[in-house]
Amino acid sequence: MAKLILLPGKERSALRRHPWLFAGSVGRLEGRARPGDTVEVLADDGRSLGRAAYSPKSQIRARFWTFSPEETVDDAFFKRRVAAAVARRATLPELAGQEGLRLIHGESDGLPGIIADRYGDTAVLQLTSAGADKWRGALVTALVQATGCERVFERSDSDVRGLEGLEPTTGWLYGEAPKTLLAIAEHGVRLGIDIAGGHKTGFYLDQRENRLLLKGLAAGKEVLNCFCYTGGFSLQALAGGAANVLSIDSSGPALEQAQANLALNPQLPAARAEWLEADVFQALRDFRKAGRQFDLVVLDPPKFAPSAAHAERASRAYKDINLLGCRLLRPGGLLMTYSCSGGIGLELFQKIVAGAALDAGRDARIVRRLAGAADHPVGLNFPEGEYLKGVLVQVD
Ligand code: SAH
Repeated sequence: MAKLILLPGKERSALRRHPWLFAGSVGRLEGRARPGDTVEVLADDGRSLGRAAYSPKSQIRARFWTFSPEETVDDAFFKRRVAAAVARRATLPELAGQEGLRLIHGESDGLPGIIADRYGDTAVLQLTSAGADKWRGALVTALVQATGCERVFERSDSDVRGLEGLEPTTGWLYGEAPKTLLAIAEHGVRLGIDIAGGHKTGFYLDQRENRLLLKGLAAGKEVLNCFCYTGGFSLQALAGGAANVLSIDSSGPALEQAQANLALNPQLPAARAEWLEADVFQALRDFRKAGRQFDLVVLDPPKFAPSAAHAERASRAYKDINLLGCRLLRPGGLLMTYSCSGGIGLELFQKIVAGAALDAGRDARIVRRLAGAADHPVGLNFPEGEYLKGVLVQVD
């Protein structure tokens, strides 16, 4: 096994069990290693820090598999790690019986670069690092053993693979189904999930608990759901008794799926749903001009800041929609607002929302802080895992 030797003093993050080693920490490689190969990581003084996947093309030069110098990284290792991730979720009552469930959440489950979501009997695997890419076969076997899933589909087409020098790859890895349009139930609502063409692995499972919260808040309210994707929040608002729900997205296919999802739920009052294909920034301005008002506004935009380098521009975009959102609320109305940008921390996001309320001339208070669901844990050694943050704000 090749040895990756760190520069003096650069072992600190590894000693705190942070799973990433940046290029700037690495002194030299002794021996030969191809992308994705397991290397032993050593501090400058020769102390072994663990074993990691080497990725020569990426700024994240290595990702730790293990901080135990003696632990072998082989098929059995992945079998243990995958089984542990699955077992962890089984101990959380709120996750019991969920048909759509994140089984493996990358670094926070000790499996850097590896995402696996379950939709019924199908697991969808997403590999985003050179190291993860090497262990595809072992991961499929481990997933099937740990879950009893009948099929595994690969959705390794995320842009970040490019940073690791990897090509996109998608398709069935195990078993096969004639269709890649699946369906799950979430809080009593049926949802179609396009595992081949949808965002991420097909659905935003991270918002599951927040959709339930919305359901509980919606009774009798006029709801505006911005960035609605396939209607997850919209359908829960209808299920919760909303007076009406107006949903906006710029994606035609997402809105088509949203309407198909509504049709899957004959118990919901379809006449109370309205769908609008538009740019949210423009639509909110138009509503303002037209004097439209709502009781509850949901803002769940895409990642405006993938990294801290984009934070400033992203902040302006968040400020803009939150300002408009506040202005459209009736007195006492609720703003449910999120950022899923890794580059925007909770504190900064809260400041942005505060600035938006101020500029809208509305006194406002946080009534609840919001985060990702329990199957998207945040490793305490990996604060970067806390990408999804939100606040529920009530305005005067
Ligand atoms: N709330 C959703 C997930 C939202 S994902 C859920 O719970 O499932 C973000 C969505 O924003 C995507 O569907 C994308 O098509 C849409 N989008 C991105 N930019 C947009 C814009 N400027 N205006 C409207 N929709 C946009």
